[in-house]
Amino acid sequence: MWFAPAPQVRRWVLWGLLVVLVLSMLSTLVWLAGRYEVGQVQSRLERDASDAVSDIRTALTRNVQSLQSLQYADRNAAPWEQDAHTMLREHREWLRLELRDADLRVLKSVDTPFRAPVFHRFGRDANQPEVVQACGVARRQSGAGYGASTYVPQTDGLGLEIMDLCLPVITEGELTGYTVATYALNEILVNMVGPQLTRSQEVSFTESDGTRLAMHGTANRGSRVFIAKQLLDLPGHTMVLRMDSWRGAPDLFPNVLTALVTAMALALVTVLIMLARDMRRRQRVELDLADALAFRKAMEDSLVTGLRARDKQGRITYVNPAFCEMVGFEAHELIGKSIPAPYWPPEMVDEYGQRQALRLAGNAPPREGAESVFMRKNGERFAVMIFEAPLINALGEQTGWMGAVLDISEQRRVEEVSRASQERLQATARLATVGEMASLLSHELNQPLAAISSYATGSMNLLKDAAVTDPQLADNLSSAIQRIGQQAERAGKVIKSVHDFVRRRDQAREAVTPCALLDDVMPLVSLQARKLGVRLQVNCAPDLPPVLCDRTMVEQVLLNLARNGMQAMAEDTAHKDLTLSVQPANANASSRWLEFTVADVGHGIAPEVADKLFTPFFTTKQEGMGLGLSLCRTVVEQHGGFLSHRPNAPRGTVFSFTLPQS
Ligand code: ADP
Repeated sequence: MWFAPAPQVRRWVLWGLLVVLVLSMLSTLVWLAGRYEVGQVQSRLERDASDAVSDIRTALTRNVQSLQSLQYADRNAAPWEQDAHTMLREHREWLRLELRDADLRVLKSVDTPFRAPVFHRFGRDANQPEVVQACGVARRQSGAGYGASTYVPQTDGLGLEIMDLCLPVITEGELTGYTVATYALNEILVNMVGPQLTRSQEVSFTESDGTRLAMHGTANRGSRVFIAKQLLDLPGHTMVLRMDSWRGAPDLFPNVLTALVTAMALALVTVLIMLARDMRRRQRVELDLADALAFRKAMEDSLVTGLRARDKQGRITYVNPAFCEMVGFEAHELIGKSIPAPYWPPEMVDEYGQRQALRLAGNAPPREGAESVFMRKNGERFAVMIFEAPLINALGEQTGWMGAVLDISEQRRVEEVSRASQERLQATARLATVGEMASLLSHELNQPLAAISSYATGSMNLLKDAAVTDPQLADNLSSAIQRIGQQAERAGKVIKSVHDFVRRRDQAREAVTPCALLDDVMPLVSLQARKLGVRLQVNCAPDLPPVLCDRTMVEQVLLNLARNGMQAMAEDTAHKDLTLSVQPANANASSRWLEFTVADVGHGIAPEVADKLFTPFFTTKQEGMGLGLSLCRTVVEQHGGFLSHRPNAPRGTVFSFTLPQS
């Protein structure tokens, strides 16, 4: 099943609501305008009807006055009939004028000249009751009285609705007779109602039940009929005046205002639709843009290459996560930063600043990239490769520089390692040559040493004979020659063991007490110590267990360390002390290792020297070979031990190595 996401549903509901509101507003407006128009028409009709009634009433009153003038005219001047004739010609609404006596008998009568006599067919008496009624009212009111209207059929098949007006004739306060005027109702409408009222409307007299008595006027037939009724209240008789108006149905746009509002509403709806379309298009574009952005972000985040953008003033405007990880700063610590960048090593700031100035001056960087050194937040320096290119915006203007930064420290390290191993290889090759030479030398030296030894033995034998003559001298010489013999033998052993070492023969390991080892090297060490003015101190507990080792080689190591220590103490050192000691390797006495230490109070070892200490041929001395420590380490490591050094307090160095117990 598919559900639209909530915001979309909401949007559609809102749009629907808006459209419904606009439509209902429009229809209400149209309806109200229509109603207003209907109201206008109706009230105009009402007004017209009341105008018509007042027209009629005024005309009737005027007619009553005319009749009175007929009554009171000077009869000597003209007979009644003549005056009546004249009046009838002036008043088309009158059909007949009668002069009656006090008993309502007709004395004189004149008919209108405009039509055939009305009462010709059925006689005047048919209307007597109405005349009686009218004159009754007239007598009672001493003024005009009207009778009910009656229908008088005519010879032509049509009929007429008539109404009588009766006016009492009073002579010297006495009622002497009546003047009766007969009105034709439809003539009243024709002559008394203003022509403007009947031009497009129909005016009629009706009975209370709606029956039409007389009517006048033409009306355009339309779909809608408007009716207005007004009472015409006359003394003795009341009539209803009805006015009919036909109007076409009100137009859809009955007036300019509605039309204007409708047009504006339509324009509004159109604009809304256009806006909706525009919004949909924008939404689509936004969605595409968001997709593209997400893709770009994912791409940037997954890159291992650091990306960094700078504006033309050198301020950092963008960095990707890989760059942040590389230099160890957060993005917010970098963005907006100018020269010097936080990842520039302080010692390089000048150089980099110049390079940056060149770049900002418009000098394009090399396409193949430039090598540089950056600094991590913890101060560690590392090598990077920077590829920089101008940053061009959509208008084709350059807004800054975009740089791709590669961390090449690992590559550099590998190169360094391979270079070092290369150097080591070369050194080893040289060492091998040295070894070969040593081997040759030892071979060559063996013979002269053997000769020295045999000459010493010969000399000893000769001295035995000479002892008789000068026993004291003989004794001295004998001990000297004995020592020569011992040392020659020792030299022979050294040469042999070097030979063995170079040839990598299995060394003859034996169990030797540490003190015996120290004792063996003591004569040579003290000889040199005396020469250099060094005080010697030996700490060796006699109960220490023996160690398993190649005696000559270990003695060589001890000799070497002691000699280095003594050489490190310059002439100006006040108390030149060299201490040789042996103790169990750990404080723990059950350790299977013994530790030999040679401590001096010399100039110590500088860090840059410490790095290369064991490198063959590295030396700081003019006549040094730089092989001593390297050989010492090899010897100790061949025994499974470990050679190290540490600073001595307050000054100097302590070299120590371990050997296994036997
Ligand atoms: P050589 O003695 O021929 O120079 P070595 O390998 O024995 O070669 O020593 C290498 C370097 O180590 C020496 O040149 C010296 O600078 C340094 N060195 C060795 N022992 C000491 C020491 N005890 N105190 C200070 N420097 C020393």
